Amino acid sequence: MGAFTDALAARRVDPRGRRWVYVPYDQLGTFGALADDPSRLGIVLVEDPAKAARRPYHKQKLAYVLANGRHFALEQAARGVAVRFEVARTGLTDTLAHVTAELGPLSVMDPAERELRETLRPLVRAGALRVVPHAGWLTTSDDFSRACPRAPWRMDAFYRTVRTRSGTLMEGESPVGGRWSCDTENRRPWRGTPAAAVPPRFVPDAITEEVGALIETHYGHHPGTLDLGALPATHDDAEMLWAWALQACLPQFGPFEDAFSHRSRTLFHTRIAPLLNLHRLLPARVVRDVVAAELPLPSKEGFVRQILGWREFVRHVHRATDGLRALPPHAAIAPSRVDATGAASPSFLGAENALPPTFWGAAPSGLGCLDTTVESVWAEGYTHHIPRLMILSNLATLLDVSPRALTDWFWVAFTDAYDWVVEPNVLGMGTFAAGELMSTKPYVAGSAYLARMGDHCGRCAFRPDVDCPITPLYWAFLRRHADALRRNPRISGPVAAALARSDARAAADSRVYRYVRDRLAAGGVLDPAVVARHRCELPFDPEEAP
Ligand SMILES: Cc1cc2nc3c(=O)[nH]c(=O)nc-3n(C[C@H](O)[C@H](O)[C@H](O)COP(=O)(O)OP(=O)(O)OC[C@H]3O[C@@H](n4cnc5c(N)ncnc54)[C@H](O)[C@@H]3O)c2cc1C
Repeated sequence: MGAFTDALAARRVDPRGRRWVYVPYDQLGTFGALADDPSRLGIVLVEDPAKAARRPYHKQKLAYVLANGRHFALEQAARGVAVRFEVARTGLTDTLAHVTAELGPLSVMDPAERELRETLRPLVRAGALRVVPHAGWLTTSDDFSRACPRAPWRMDAFYRTVRTRSGTLMEGESPVGGRWSCDTENRRPWRGTPAAAVPPRFVPDAITEEVGALIETHYGHHPGTLDLGALPATHDDAEMLWAWALQACLPQFGPFEDAFSHRSRTLFHTRIAPLLNLHRLLPARVVRDVVAAELPLPSKEGFVRQILGWREFVRHVHRATDGLRALPPHAAIAPSRVDATGAASPSFLGAENALPPTFWGAAPSGLGCLDTTVESVWAEGYTHHIPRLMILSNLATLLDVSPRALTDWFWVAFTDAYDWVVEPNVLGMGTFAAGELMSTKPYVAGSAYLARMGDHCGRCAFRPDVDCPITPLYWAFLRRHADALRRNPRISGPVAAALARSDARAAADSRVYRYVRDRLAAGGVLDPAVVARHRCELPFDPEEAP
């Protein structure tokens, strides 16, 4: 017997006469049916080793799911809920089939993850599981179809609709402060002040330690560092993280939202995504707390937009497209495409290159921004939004990496990744793989943007305004994809500028692209001398900085 099974046995209550509910890993909170009288409730929780082994998930991600699941079971048992905890040694459906044969049909809130819904489908068809709406979400598919009746779909239309409908940050019919978005104020680079928020550490108990040992024994070959001291695993840990976020991050959240730094992986971001996605923290609660807090409007509005806007929006996009497998027909949206494994693999720009091994931390690339970001991913399973978008996705897009390959990498590398959130963010936003489905244009940038918003260039062998290859990659990208992008009004200007470059510069851009692509594909480090040779020592043109 282990620490967990002993602790659960010690809290065992009489399971007779209970109403039984199946609680998947995205529902680990006292909400929905669990808000009812605990003395009449029974919950079924199942750990699924096959699920954990399905992809080489970051060890810290496995720890989030397993340690929070086990602590949730104990916390519910302490409330007087009867807990039936199973390890699915013969598979999830088989295990649940046995449990339901004994307990009768279970109700379950509709899981967010498509992959889990597919696994459960036979049990739903057989009547063993009765699906009810997931009470953790703040918006409905009606909200989405009202705000976005036709594709392309835009987050700001959705956000305005749901703010109005829910009355969040509203004064009558108008947004508080007179504007729906404070985005334009929220673009300050961070140069060291105010001091960045330092994430709290947690004291792992015997249950968490046991999960850590299980992961090292069975999934020790998975990538990433396991750091139990960084893991919020209990209800109290989640409360502590959220109290820290409110006090240390939120006051500066807005203004520095787009900044990034090698001196702080967090800056003023909250790190709550893994707990929100497990529903250890409830989205309604964090929005309520932030709306009620004394905070500057740009921070308040910026945060509400992330939760009530982006997070809900991407989930609806995933749901409405069957996980980006069925994209609405439209000239500016990629045709639907599914690969041999059944995964959605649209590629509006026809990008098909393999993901360079440097993303796995195998060898440095020589690009300070990429290497610093990859290091933080494998150290923590975390970077905030901007390195995900403007470093990882930007570079993969500039290198024509297969959007599906990049999505699969994000899915295993981040502690907050599940299909409903990672697929729209990478395919729909990060790589423009779905075309204009949910983004107006590709999020691509050259070195000037990276030098302005971050400080990674200071740790790089390349200089942003002299010889960084990212700017030639940017121009080469726009030229290669000019036919697909020139009719897009949001990017037609840069495309025209790329096409207007002299033949000598365009040829040099293209050589740099081929060198970077091939060198990184071979697992090599980029050499400033070789980049300079490919650029034929063309002087830096200040006009060209995108
Ligand atoms: C290429 C790419 C991949 C991403 N993959 C994931 C993913 O696998 N899982 C995930 O939860 N988020 C993902 N995001 C969204 C966002 O980057 C993370 O939610 C955020 O960085 C998590 O860190 P945080 O909790 O410190 O966020 P904060 O900056 O503190 O933001 C607060 C919360 O807002 C929510 N949020 C903000 N933007 C988004 C968004 N675009 N989609 C969904 N939720 C959002 C998150 O719940 C986040 O915790 C991705 C974004 C990009 C560009």
